[in-house]
Amino acid sequence: MSVRARFAPSPTGKLHVGNVRTALVNVLFSRKMGGQFVLRFEDTDLEREVPEAETQMISVFDWLGITADESTAHGGDFGPYRTRDRAKRGDYDEALKVLFEKGLAYECFVSKEELDMIRRLRTSRGLPPGYDNRHRDLTEREKEAYRAEGREPVIRFKLLDGEIAFEDLVRGSVRYEAKNLGGDPVIVRSNGIPIFTFAGAVDDINQKITHVIRGEDHVTNAAIQVRIFEALGAKVPSFAHFTMLLDSDGGKLSKRLDSLSIAQLREQGFLPKSILSYLAAIGTSMDPTLGSIEELAQRFDFATAGRAPVRFELEQIERLNALLIHDMDWPEARDYVLARVDNPMAEDEMELFWHAVRPNISLLSQIKEQFDLCFGDIENTGLIADDADYIRIAEQELPKGPYSKQTWQAWVGTLKEKTGRKGKDLFMPLRIALTGISHGPELAELLPVMGEERARARLKQACK
Ligand code: GLU
Repeated sequence: MSVRARFAPSPTGKLHVGNVRTALVNVLFSRKMGGQFVLRFEDTDLEREVPEAETQMISVFDWLGITADESTAHGGDFGPYRTRDRAKRGDYDEALKVLFEKGLAYECFVSKEELDMIRRLRTSRGLPPGYDNRHRDLTEREKEAYRAEGREPVIRFKLLDGEIAFEDLVRGSVRYEAKNLGGDPVIVRSNGIPIFTFAGAVDDINQKITHVIRGEDHVTNAAIQVRIFEALGAKVPSFAHFTMLLDSDGGKLSKRLDSLSIAQLREQGFLPKSILSYLAAIGTSMDPTLGSIEELAQRFDFATAGRAPVRFELEQIERLNALLIHDMDWPEARDYVLARVDNPMAEDEMELFWHAVRPNISLLSQIKEQFDLCFGDIENTGLIADDADYIRIAEQELPKGPYSKQTWQAWVGTLKEKTGRKGKDLFMPLRIALTGISHGPELAELLPVMGEERARARLKQACK
């Protein structure tokens, strides 16, 4: 059977590095196997839902170059691709009917306050917190009485005692005692909307999903879902739960998720290829190296995935990003550059500018500061008064344009002879006078970009 994997985000926020990594492993595995990748939206949490989240997520995927074979945007044979649309069609009612018929689902009228009390009691008795299954066998009369009180039931799934075991492609053999999983789980809320643990399993069955690949925060859900698949008479899919990403200090990444949203990384000038190449390698025994989605897919192997939580290092993406930028020729860089500078010069000059500054850039957002450094107003910070005479001489000796890459050597050679300066004393005041700062692009490259007029004006300004 052909592999079918899926990514099933809840439209409750922005896509960040953690969930894109989950999406990506699904993409890479399904591509490698010549299968399909399904993008499905689990809109089961009305309170946390963000109206524009789905559209934003789709545009992030487009930007990343990740194309789903089936989704709300692309359609497909197994639609609709939103939980609430599938609910309207009756998918979950049908599955519920089976569970009720088998005596594996029941209405539970326990109130929030009672639940809270049950949890506290269980904790005080040294039991794992959770629900104690007290409404499993209510009589019709008891149910009527609760209804008469105005209580609206949730529907719970009967998690019968016994071991639940499955093989996980990342974690190996996983085993749980059902009674340690916190009691019978709610599968439909009192507002009639299914919980994703249930809806997702029903969708996985109906959409013929063969592999459920996601983060390890879902391992216990997988145990419950194994029972749901079985109860619905379906084949249990293969599971793979990838380790969580940690912050660089070893804490949860969740505090930083806003700043690590893909939209934010895009804004900062990270490129899709460096983001994806890093996310394909994180938590595996592979070194992050740049590759297209096809290349990353060829390298993909569950056997390389580690089991220990792994630290997310943005610097690693920046390192890959720098490699990409340093290699980027003008036609490819053009749009990125023109979008980031206010008054671009003529095309040829911009190309010269790009070649001079690209070795100094690791993020596209740095283009603007490099442009300002070449063409904007600068302040001469750090030029000491003793250097004023030197800069005056430098201005007098500045060659006539047009400049080439050799101009710098010739100019500095003359200055060395005239002033006896050498090393840092020779070139650092020139750098500061010309660019305002003590580091930056190679001056030999920069001088032809600046041209004689601008260079002379900056030198004059610097010795004032
Ligand atoms: N909607 C769930 C989430 O966003 C997906 C769980 C799953 O992949 O099965 O966490």
